[in-house]
Amino acid sequence: MKQRSTVARAAAICLGLCLPQALVAEAVICPGGGFSVYGAGHRADAVCQAALEATEQLASCNLYVPTPVAIEVTRSMPGNCYGLYHCDEDLIQLLPLEVYETHLSGAPDSPFGHLEPEVFFNSILRHELAHAALGTLPCPYEGCPATQEFVAYTMQIRFLSDADRAPLDQRAAEVERPITRDGISAVVLMLSPEAFIANAHAYLSQQEDPCDLIGAIARGDVIFDLPFR
Ligand SMILES: [Zn+2]
Repeated sequence: MKQRSTVARAAAICLGLCLPQALVAEAVICPGGGFSVYGAGHRADAVCQAALEATEQLASCNLYVPTPVAIEVTRSMPGNCYGLYHCDEDLIQLLPLEVYETHLSGAPDSPFGHLEPEVFFNSILRHELAHAALGTLPCPYEGCPATQEFVAYTMQIRFLSDADRAPLDQRAAEVERPITRDGISAVVLMLSPEAFIANAHAYLSQQEDPCDLIGAIARGDVIFDLPFR
C-alpha cells in the first residue's frame, strides 16, 4: 500500500518533469488554480474559461471534477484520438483548433461535423473532464468503457447550445424506441460509435431526471457494461 502511494506520487511528479521545456514555459495557471494549460498559446485564457465553465456544467449534473488537472494542447496525441484523459497523470490532451477545423470540414456529416471548431474543442474538453470526474468509477470488471463513454458523450452533447445540439437531437429522435441498455454496450461503441452516441443521447433524454441517472452512475449504482464471456 505504501509502495503504491509512492509510485502514484512519483507519477504525479513525473508529469511536470516529462513535459517538454517549451510547454512548461508556456504554462498558464487558470483563475482558482484548479487547471493549468500548456501549449495553447494565445488561446490559454479561452481554454481556462472553457474548463471552468465545463466544470460548473458537470457539477450541475452531479459530476465533480477533481483538481488539479493539467490541460495540454498538442499535435502529438497517441492513436487516432481527438482528446485523451490520462487518469494516472491528471492530464487532458487536446489537439490545436486548426486540426479540429480540418477534421470538421472533412466530415460535415459526422455527429459533431456541424460544430464550429472552438465549440467542438470545448465539447471535447467537457467530454474529457467528465472522464476525469468518473476517474474513481467503481467498475466490477477490467474496465467499464460503455459506462464511461455514455457519460462523457452525453455530457459533451447536453451542454451544447440549443442550436448546436439540434442536429444531435434530430439523430437521437430517429433512434428506434424504447432504447435499451443493449444499445449502449461496449460492442456498439466499438462497431458503430455514431450509433452509440445517438443511443446514449436518446437514452439520457428519455430519463425523467437525466442528472439523477448521471449521479447514480458516478456512485457506481448503475453501469452499462457487462462481463465479457
Ligand atoms: Zn471518452
